Amino acid sequence: MANRFINQAAPGLASLKPYVPGKPLSELERELGITGSIKLASNENPLGPSPRVRAVLEAQVANLTRYPDGGAFELRRALAARHDVDAACVTVGNGSNDVLDMVARVFLWAGRQSLFSQYAFAVYPISSMAVGATLLIAPAVDYGHDLRAMRAMVSQQTGVIWIANPNNPTGTRLNKVDLREFVESVPSEVIVVVDEAYFDYVQDDDFPDASQWLGDFPNLIVTRTFSKAYGLAALRVGYGLSHPDVADLLNRVRQPFNVDSFAQAAALAALDDQDYLRRSVEINDQGMQQLVAGVRRLGLDFIPSAGNFLTIDLGRDAGPVDQALLRMGVVTRQVANYGLPNHLRVSVGLGDENARFLEALEQVL
Ligand SMILES: *Cc1c(COP(=O)(O)O)cnc(C)c1O
Repeated sequence: MANRFINQAAPGLASLKPYVPGKPLSELERELGITGSIKLASNENPLGPSPRVRAVLEAQVANLTRYPDGGAFELRRALAARHDVDAACVTVGNGSNDVLDMVARVFLWAGRQSLFSQYAFAVYPISSMAVGATLLIAPAVDYGHDLRAMRAMVSQQTGVIWIANPNNPTGTRLNKVDLREFVESVPSEVIVVVDEAYFDYVQDDDFPDASQWLGDFPNLIVTRTFSKAYGLAALRVGYGLSHPDVADLLNRVRQPFNVDSFAQAAALAALDDQDYLRRSVEINDQGMQQLVAGVRRLGLDFIPSAGNFLTIDLGRDAGPVDQALLRMGVVTRQVANYGLPNHLRVSVGLGDENARFLEALEQVL
């Protein structure tokens, strides 16, 4: 039904479809009257939180009545040290999505173009449309970025180019040489966002750490998150790295206390717990092998993934399969909203979770 206030709303909202999150387990279990279900739908860390994080969260309870440090001084300092940049290069976000949204509010407006690839992360169009920008969507190759096609679409009106590496929902990745060549080829007044939410899962030597290029490209913004390999999705904390002048603009639109004190303290503790990070990546590597082997055994095609999820081609409408899995207590993610109606995205879980998913999938098929 038409929204009766749509004509009073900002122009970009008429065709803006809200983000569809993975269903929380509690809601699913309430609806179906079941228990013991597993969620492999939102690319979360199956390991559970680091014990160090638990301890600092408990300590933070004493400060509940106080506003958090709006400048996130300690966290920004730690992140700056980690990436060998000045603290003035760091912008903290309520999740990295918050930083992406700041980028759109600063560098896009009506008449400006927002460029990304087919199958790009859903937040890029949402944030771009909210500020009235025009979407330019480059066709993908093999589900991944076609950088040549993207470069050809850049114009005088282009404000921001968004590239997730690895990409969600496809898991595709770009190598160092190709991505760097692309960033070099882009006019220096066009902002290039390299979204590295899944960076920690990739260990190949030819995989780029775009944060190392910040000195070469003042128009580059690199975003990272604590939601995935660091296992803090509930706390909503991420960050952007950029030239200080870009960070200055992002901070002008940033909400004053966007990262709460629990999130700041937890992120600091998580950064220190490199052992947890190592285990997260190990579990992911093992789980990915298990999923790939299982999916192959079922004779299904999939998109090779560099992330913590696998996007499987079911060769038919994934909707009913997703629903059948739901009823068996296995929550996966349909990606029809990304233009992939026959694909199902499953996050890498613990060994027994992956096994349960594969068994359920076999039964459903
Ligand atoms: C999960 C994800 C993020 C992280 O979002 P947060 O707001 O930091 O939780 C960012 N980009 C992509 C492509 C993602 O898949």
